[in-house]
Amino acid sequence: MKTKEIIKRAGELARPFRISKGKDFRLKDVDPNDTLEFTKEADKPRAKEVLTMGVKALAELQDKLYAQDKWAMLLIFQAMDAAGKDGAIKHVMSGVNPQGCQVYSFKSPSAEDLDHDYLWRCMKYLPNRGQIGIFNRSYYEEVLVVRVHPEFLAKQKLPPTLVGKNIWEERFEDIRNFEQYLARNGVVVRKFFLHVSRKEQKRRFLDRIDDPLKNWKFSSNDAAERDFWDDYMQAYEQMIQETATKAAPWYVVPADNKWFTRVVVAAAVIETLDSLDLTYPEVDQGKLNELAAAKKKLLSK
Ligand code: ATP
Ligand code: MG
Repeated sequence: MKTKEIIKRAGELARPFRISKGKDFRLKDVDPNDTLEFTKEADKPRAKEVLTMGVKALAELQDKLYAQDKWAMLLIFQAMDAAGKDGAIKHVMSGVNPQGCQVYSFKSPSAEDLDHDYLWRCMKYLPNRGQIGIFNRSYYEEVLVVRVHPEFLAKQKLPPTLVGKNIWEERFEDIRNFEQYLARNGVVVRKFFLHVSRKEQKRRFLDRIDDPLKNWKFSSNDAAERDFWDDYMQAYEQMIQETATKAAPWYVVPADNKWFTRVVVAAAVIETLDSLDLTYPEVDQGKLNELAAAKKKLLSK
């Protein structure tokens, strides 16, 4: 397939999952087990082929992004544990030049982080122009885990008069404004919620317990969070309703089949890079003269 066809295909694969206007979004409308027209066992190899082609196309686009040095792209990944964030990041970015890519994983905030506003620690890791930045978790934890567990909010040392009943709406507003600000500065923000079902998460946790090579990935705290599943789903749904915008859309990606998740994420990244109309910098006459002179000199010895 030619790059142009791959880009067209990417649009078709990503579009069903893109939410640019959150108002009417309902999580129940996205089936975590959805695989579009790929039937599970028969088409898995075909999906892997599509991913391989996608990774190649993505690498070409990234090369231009880097050379042009105007846009930056920020990809944000949010999900319940074991939904496949790490694997999606690893596979989708496997073809890109490491010099043009930076990944940052946000864990529980440190004492220094808590001494600042919550965007502070994320701002430090925003991608440079020409780069793809990846946030594995992000400031969205501030309306997810912090909302589900109010004790985290209590630790944030906020002046009590600022913690009112509208705190989540205020955070949504601030996040929308922040992302609008980034968009206006050439930082293209795309957000991914990898939507895994509770049943599939259980299967993956059991697998992590049973397979010695995966034991390191299991934390009993992750399993304990399952008790709060419904609270998380509510928080995710509202987060998407409130922060899916044209400037910074969410992709709600079915995540019960890892191979499919990766195809959709790659497609969304390709679709986005393509929308930027990236080109290699044009070389002016002075530079062409310089190249010709250098060539002449190299050939003369
Ligand atoms: P892994 O796949 O390795 O488990 P992970 O992203 O789950 O990756 P962990 O170190 O297991 O990494 O978990 C990070 C934890 O930090 C998560 O439970 C997350 O909810 C929590 N966290 C992230 N940001 C915040 C925040 N702002 N406030 C409180 N907790 C946070
Ligand atoms: Mg974890």
